[in-house]
Amino acid sequence: MVDLISQYQHIKPQIDKGFEEVLNTAAFINGPQVKTFTQNLEKYLEVKHVIPCANGTEALQIALMALDLQPGDEVITADFTFAATVEVINLLKLNSVLVDVDYDTFTINPEAVRKAITSKTKAIIPVHLFGQCAPMEEILEIAQEHDLYVIEDTAQAIGAEYKFKNGEVKKSGTIGTIGTTSFFPSKNLGCYGDGGAIFTNDDKLAHKMSGIVNHGMYKRYYHDEVGVNSRLDSLQAVVLDVKLPLLDSYNTKRRKAADFYDKAFAGHPNLIVPARAGYSTHVFHQYTLKIKDAERNALQHYLSEREIPAMIYYPVPLRKQKAYDTGNYNDSDFPVTDRLINQVISLPMHTELDEDQLRYITDNVLSFFKK
Ligand SMILES: *Cc1c(COP(=O)(O)O)cnc(C)c1O
Repeated sequence: MVDLISQYQHIKPQIDKGFEEVLNTAAFINGPQVKTFTQNLEKYLEVKHVIPCANGTEALQIALMALDLQPGDEVITADFTFAATVEVINLLKLNSVLVDVDYDTFTINPEAVRKAITSKTKAIIPVHLFGQCAPMEEILEIAQEHDLYVIEDTAQAIGAEYKFKNGEVKKSGTIGTIGTTSFFPSKNLGCYGDGGAIFTNDDKLAHKMSGIVNHGMYKRYYHDEVGVNSRLDSLQAVVLDVKLPLLDSYNTKRRKAADFYDKAFAGHPNLIVPARAGYSTHVFHQYTLKIKDAERNALQHYLSEREIPAMIYYPVPLRKQKAYDTGNYNDSDFPVTDRLINQVISLPMHTELDEDQLRYITDNVLSFFKK
């Protein structure tokens, strides 16, 4: 699905030099590389504060911890996403309220959010799934009406740009109250281990979260809050700082691969190519097809026999996972998620796909339907 070895070969001199600097100074934790990367990411995102942390899941957890929510408060998020989002809500003894998504964009459905709001709702977590933003303008409107926080999970869409109706453009993750991301190796901006970050324009929340990531300390050995230990390593910061200036070109390469796929599959009766929403650029963390009137699992098997990895993101809705099934959900409220789990299939998508590989993949996808 990804080719990180070839990508490393292109940036090896800078990475190796940066690693050597860290090894020679042994500043493995909170070294100057972390600060430099943090400042560069703030500039790239045009956001006031970036707080680096250990991974994208803890980024979400820390964001929620900063909002002073009470056990039993409700947080609305999408039924069709990776489990990390709903996991941290429940870990903090908050109640996750899962809602349906939009068929075209795979992102949270604002109408479904509206219907799920109760007097206990405190926050919405839209997930910018597969590389494209959720409809933030509508979500911000709902949040304003009901006085809710918005945490954007942009683990899959760093670098995507949101276009507001008035022409204003903002980077994904800098639109809501807080944004969170992951630097897991296969993400669009990935390091060589685990990493994550939190973004906000709110000075107070930034200060609070900068303490929470470090045991609730604002002064050494004085613990003002219950915190966690969640840090980005200096070695990971080296990788990220080499890759950050390349992020836009990486995302362009992904978009070009997506264009190739789109063209090959255009008009095919069994294939629905991923929609591109007018309000957001698409950074194609995944290239996710929908299969109509054909056996999706048989296609996956057919491709794997030809050494083409294809993945089902995601095979089970979160509301049907043992850990998160509250028994209060009605299938009739989730027509889209329940369709998607049977239709979606994601093809290889990364920065190193060449035309021969892309043609091999598209030829094989198309030949499956000619059998
Ligand atoms: C990857 C991912 C996360 C979690 O990030 P980790 O760094 O693996 O903890 C959270 N949300 C979404 C949507 C993701 O894709």
